[in-house]
Amino acid sequence: MRKNIVAGNWKMNNDLAQTEGLLTDLQKQTQTSEAEVMVAPSFTNLWHAFQSLRTSNIEVVAQNMHFADNGAYTGEVSASMLKSVGIQTVILGHSERRAYFNETDAILAKKVDAALANTMRVIFCFGEELEDRKANKEEAVVKSQISNALFHLEADAFKNIVLAYEPVWAIGTGETATPEQAQDMHAFIRKTLSEKYGEEVANSVSILYGGSVKPNNAKEIFSKPDVDGGLIGGASLKAQDFFEIVNAF
Ligand code: PGA
Repeated sequence: MRKNIVAGNWKMNNDLAQTEGLLTDLQKQTQTSEAEVMVAPSFTNLWHAFQSLRTSNIEVVAQNMHFADNGAYTGEVSASMLKSVGIQTVILGHSERRAYFNETDAILAKKVDAALANTMRVIFCFGEELEDRKANKEEAVVKSQISNALFHLEADAFKNIVLAYEPVWAIGTGETATPEQAQDMHAFIRKTLSEKYGEEVANSVSILYGGSVKPNNAKEIFSKPDVDGGLIGGASLKAQDFFEIVNAF
């Protein structure tokens, strides 16, 4: 009953010409799986990407947004601005936002609220760092990230929330969590959701894995029962690799 989702996070890559090239390549791919497919270009290319993928099955999503609706926040982009260029979904809490732009759980809670208030869907990212895992604290860290940013919400809000577990030590490093490590954490996340909101909500939320997912490891990771898809960085920059991952379901 939950959806499988594969989302490509392009991060700060691709100028307009490169974006056009990748969009063209994406439209040449054939989807054989039933997963929902998303790509997240940078802000400057969202409108263009939205226009070119309008008639495809690929949803264009944003990588970030501010929590305020408008006002004196130089350099920021709001939910209503995103919606005005066709964007319905936003990635929030990526570890790079947390690490380089000081996004705390408290700020993320406000961003989540702003997105939901604007009837947007949220892909909420979280995950432990290597030191946490070495100290066996990964579950405690993940539980606090989820509860601090999301557990003020009503159960109903989870209809518009997708979770993305991304262990920081696996992002862009070529080091993937083993499928078993991913499954263990995803099961823990679902249990944590279930304790707070009940089993029905917990079983309805898609939980994606992110961190060095590639064409050669996607199938095994996606085969785990609590892994409902992936958030793909590096491998989403090549259309063929990305669609091999999409079709790994
Ligand atoms: P990666 O990035 O696939 O390049 O490890 C994943 C992410 O940051 O979402």
